[in-house]
Amino acid sequence: MTDTGRFAPSTTGPAHPGTLLAALLCWLDARSRGGRVVLRLEDLDPERSTPELTSAMEDGLSWLGLDWDETVRQSANREAHEDALDRFAAAGLLYPCACSRATHKSHGLRSPDGGFRYLGTCRGRALPAGGWRECEEPLRVELPSGVVPCVDESGLDLSQDPAAQFGDPVVRRRDGAIAYHLASVVDDSLQDVTRVVRGRDLAATTGVQLRLRAMLELPRPVYRHHLLLLEQRGDKLAKLHGAVGLPRLREHYGASGLCGFLAHAAGLSPDPAPRTPRDLLADFDWRRVHAQDRVIHWDGTQLRVDAVRLLDV
Ligand SMILES: [Zn+2]
Repeated sequence: MTDTGRFAPSTTGPAHPGTLLAALLCWLDARSRGGRVVLRLEDLDPERSTPELTSAMEDGLSWLGLDWDETVRQSANREAHEDALDRFAAAGLLYPCACSRATHKSHGLRSPDGGFRYLGTCRGRALPAGGWRECEEPLRVELPSGVVPCVDESGLDLSQDPAAQFGDPVVRRRDGAIAYHLASVVDDSLQDVTRVVRGRDLAATTGVQLRLRAMLELPRPVYRHHLLLLEQRGDKLAKLHGAVGLPRLREHYGASGLCGFLAHAAGLSPDPAPRTPRDLLADFDWRRVHAQDRVIHWDGTQLRVDAVRLLDV
């Protein structure tokens, strides 16, 4: 079977260098295997995602030199997302959650992704007589307990007990949007995705996704998590978000210039000289990609890689 990868950015803001690196690595991973690659524009957030941002993401990736075998907008898959909720409801696993944000955090127990654990306070609450579609509260799904074993392709041990370490996830939000993990696993299955290549910031929740996949009897893809581009913020390192978006970058870089910088930051090129994604394809190998995150900064006209700091993985 042909490998299929997917790049699945949320379209709630402009692409930043971290988005572009993730897109590039995902594309190189699939293309270097002779595989297919799908661009899935995750546009479900009714407040923050707009058609303009969604189109800008698609245009920006194409400008960088990336191409796709299929481009889908996640909002087009509403029916499949609702089918999954119907299945959970039929199994008696779906319930409304009335907890406020304050209640949810009051116990202070953290989940592996830095959020707060949900302790199942509302488990057992019934759905409205008319079914989940009539419910105005967020909906959660009851997870079976037990460890989900997982070591990703880069060797990260992500085994965890999602029910104990996260608690039951929200699968439909208060605003009616289908929540990220559910939409993501349903769509991976619709698009026959066999390889999920993404930034290490998403690694901590892999167990939740694997559990949802198992509950819906969806196939299990290979996961691989890669380095992040970070920026110094005060004395902390943060994901490089918002510091500089693609519209600003394009005022200062051509596509191959920016691609060359990303390749250099990731370890794929000895210098930041211009490179196209196709130039990088010939000798792409994950063993050449830095394992550790890289700290970069925007000096107003250029991106620069800061002195290497070895960060805990
Ligand atoms: Zn609750």
